[in-house]
Amino acid sequence: MSYSIRRPAAHHAQPSSFHAGTSDTPANAARAWAVEGFNVGIWELNPVTNELYWSKRARELLGVAPDVPEDWDLGWSAIHPDDRGWIPAALDRAMDPLGDGHYHVDFRIVHPDGRIVWVDSRARAVFKETPEGRRAVGLFGAMLDITERKQAEADVRQSEAHFHALADLVPDLLWSNNVRAKSEWYNQRWFEYTAQTSEEARGDGWLEVIHPDDRETVLRNLHIAVERGAPLRHEHRIRRSDGVYRWFLVQVRPVRDEQGQISSWYGAATDIHEERMARIAAEQARAEAEAAVHVRDQFLSMASHELRTPLTALSGYAYVLGTVAQSSAGEIPKLTDTITRQVERLTRLIDRLLDISRLQQGQLVIERHPVDIVALAATTVADFRATLPATSSHTVELRCPAGHVLIEGDADRLEEVLFNLLSNAVKYSPEGGPVHVVIGRSAAEAIVEVQDQGIGIPVDAQPHVFAAFYRARNGRAQAPGFGLGLHIVGEIVQRHNGRIEVDSAEGVGSTFRVLLPLLDTAR
Ligand code: ADP
Repeated sequence: MSYSIRRPAAHHAQPSSFHAGTSDTPANAARAWAVEGFNVGIWELNPVTNELYWSKRARELLGVAPDVPEDWDLGWSAIHPDDRGWIPAALDRAMDPLGDGHYHVDFRIVHPDGRIVWVDSRARAVFKETPEGRRAVGLFGAMLDITERKQAEADVRQSEAHFHALADLVPDLLWSNNVRAKSEWYNQRWFEYTAQTSEEARGDGWLEVIHPDDRETVLRNLHIAVERGAPLRHEHRIRRSDGVYRWFLVQVRPVRDEQGQISSWYGAATDIHEERMARIAAEQARAEAEAAVHVRDQFLSMASHELRTPLTALSGYAYVLGTVAQSSAGEIPKLTDTITRQVERLTRLIDRLLDISRLQQGQLVIERHPVDIVALAATTVADFRATLPATSSHTVELRCPAGHVLIEGDADRLEEVLFNLLSNAVKYSPEGGPVHVVIGRSAAEAIVEVQDQGIGIPVDAQPHVFAAFYRARNGRAQAPGFGLGLHIVGEIVQRHNGRIEVDSAEGVGSTFRVLLPLLDTAR
């Protein structure tokens, strides 16, 4: 059927309940008011005469100027060319005797000034039984201006298009879920990374690319987030197109509508694989290191104590044996002497290990009493000379200022410091190399110097000599040792709020200088 959209000529007009233009009776006047009082355009089609009636508002919507005569012919030209096609078909369907009589189309009208008006046009057909059968005798319709709504929808579509274009540029995987956490949209990166198709990913399809070991936790966390309506942040693995799983930081947060109701969820997954691997490796390394330190500390303290006891007995018996052997002939005195020296060596090692173990466990207690460094140096040097083998040709000279040099500290520990420095001076000097101990003072410090003319310390080794177990390469070649003495010396000096310095030149000699704060009253 074809329709001419035409206002019926006045003489053809049939009185109708919708004819707002007719106000001949009070009832019709009221109807006219009702029809024109709202923003709705009313129209009526008589399929028998093919005539159309338009209300005033309908004419406005159609862009017909008020001065256009009543029987103007709208023609199809006012309808936007893209929308013309389906209006006649929709009208036919509405008036199909076998159909439900409904008509509903949204279409655009091009006004004479070029403005485009969107209308929502709906109608209902009225059927009548005739001798020829059931047929439509009228179509009663209403039109509403929906330009603003359509514009808003177009704006939303446009901003969505912008959002999607932007989202496709992001290196992260992005998606949106509906209120029940079913996925509705993914950015391009998701499809590239997972190699899923949009059909595979939709709904719960994303679960398929989550690492099987992580799925339960992921679902549980999501469930809790949805229950609470709270954002979620967790890490899990997502399968890459080549089947490799990589770690992602996944953040999901709810989007709320104007009423504050959650309307959807947005998610973003950032690849943190390398970072997480490095973190795990670092945590492992730290745990292993801590375990190793713990084992070492335990071993040190246990071994030192356990070794000390039998050694004390051994050294006692070696001494007795030595005295008895004095009168014996042959190799025996030499052998007992060797035993004594080895026992002493072991005792020294164990004492140092014990010191280190105490240092590490914070058990190295420094007693604080006034100490005269001059007197302390005199006794220590004397004691040290006594330990030198009778055959040794080393000389140890002591030079002191007149009077006392008082500091506050632990005399036993300070003796240990000087003793260690003297031992090194002799150990790292050629036979007969002289050693000097020089005591001095500055305005605020007592100064203890141990000078030798030995092998010296290479420049590159000098910064490390106070580290535990460190030995310079020329030192290793010269004499056996453990690399612990200077470490302990450094720690003791530091606990006296003092400093230790070394001046050394390879092949020339070394000077170790200990500086300790003077006791206030002595200044
Ligand atoms: P050890 O003497 O048992 O090796 P130390 O901690 O006492 O351990 O000394 C650390 C290293 O510093 C030595 O191995 C040696 O290389 C160097 N060193 C220490 N004192 C001297 C010195 N007076 N002359 C030359 N080198 C020294």
